[in-house]
Amino acid sequence: MGATIPFAVATTSFHKRIERAALPRIHQGKVRDTYILPDPNLLFVLATDRVSIFDFVLPTIIPLKGEVLTALTVFWLRDVLDDVRHHLIAYGKDIDDYLLARLRGDKELHNRGLVVRKLAMLPIECIVRNNLTGSGWKSYQKDKTVCGITLPPDLHDGSQLPAPIFTPTTKAETGHDEPLDAEDVVRENGTWIREQSLAIFNEVASYARTKGLILADTKFEFGKDGTLADEVATPDSSRYWDLKEWERACEKRETPPSYDKEIVRTWGKQHGVDKLDPTNTNDLNAVASLQIPQDVLDKTVDRYHEVFRRITGESLKEFQLHME
Ligand code: ATP
Ligand code: MG
Repeated sequence: MGATIPFAVATTSFHKRIERAALPRIHQGKVRDTYILPDPNLLFVLATDRVSIFDFVLPTIIPLKGEVLTALTVFWLRDVLDDVRHHLIAYGKDIDDYLLARLRGDKELHNRGLVVRKLAMLPIECIVRNNLTGSGWKSYQKDKTVCGITLPPDLHDGSQLPAPIFTPTTKAETGHDEPLDAEDVVRENGTWIREQSLAIFNEVASYARTKGLILADTKFEFGKDGTLADEVATPDSSRYWDLKEWERACEKRETPPSYDKEIVRTWGKQHGVDKLDPTNTNDLNAVASLQIPQDVLDKTVDRYHEVFRRITGESLKEFQLHME
C-alpha cells in the first residue's frame, strides 16, 4: 500500500520498538505509518522522518522532520482551529492512555504519534490556493484554468489570486494525483467540502499572515463525514512564503523560496527525478540508489525548524515541553 519505502529508512529505532510490541500496521504512507490500537474506533498515526519528492520516497531521512509535522498539526488543531471538527484525540504523553502497556512512556512516540479517530476517508486531496504556482501554474499556462476554474489573464508564477480557490485532486495510492473538476467534486460530495476547505484555509492563512508568512497553497483531507483529518498546514502539505520575499519576487514576476522541501525538490530535478514514474520498478530502484548531499539535507532541516518557529513562536523543543 502507498509508496515503496527503502528498507534502511523504514527500520529506525522507534519502528523496532513498535515491531517488538507487535502493534499491527495497517498502512504505510510516504511519510506516516498507521497502526491499529486496542480501541477499534481509533488509529495511531506516526510521522517518520521520511521525505518524498515527485511521489518517490527518498533513501534518506530529514532528522526530526516527523516531529515538526506532528507538533505543527497539534498547534493548528489545538490552538487555532479549535472551532473545527477534527480527528485528533490525543498527543504528547496523553497517547499513553491509548497504547499497549509496552509502548507507554516512549518520548519519541510522544513527539511523533497522534491518536486519531478512525475515519472512512474521502479519496480526495482538498487543495486550496491563494497563489498560483506548482501544478496550478502549469495548468493555467495551458488554458487559463485550474480544476475547471477560469482565472484572470496575465497572472504569473506566484501571483496572488483574486480570492482563494478550491482545486481538488484525486488521492492516488501510487503515482501522481490528478486534478479534478471542482464543480464535479462539489456536486458529488456537497457544498460543505469547498466551504470547509476555504474556511479552514482562511483561518490558517490569516494566522500565518500575522507572522509575516503567506500560505500560498495547502492540502486538506477529510473523512466522509466532514471531519478534518491527516496532517494540517505543515510544510509537507503546504507552501509557505515570506511576505517580504514574495513582494520582492512579484516585481520580477517570480516565486519566492518556500519553507518546505523545495531544496530537495530542486536537487531532485537536477537528477531527473521529476521525469521518472513512481509506479515503475526501474525508476524506483534508480531513486533508491541516489545519494542526497549533506548540505541539501542540512538546509532542508533548517527550513522546517524555521517555519515552525515563525508560526508557533517557539522552538520545536520548547513546544514539545508543553505537548508533554
Ligand atoms: P499514501 O497513503 O497514498 O502513501 P500519503 O503519502 O499522503 O499517501 P501519509 O500522509 O504518509 O500518506 O499517511 C497518512 C495516511 O493516513 C493517509 O493515507 C491519510 O489519508 C490517512 N489518514 C489520515 N488521517 C486519518 C484518519 N483520521 N482516519 C483514517 N485515515 C487517516
Ligand atoms: Mg499524506
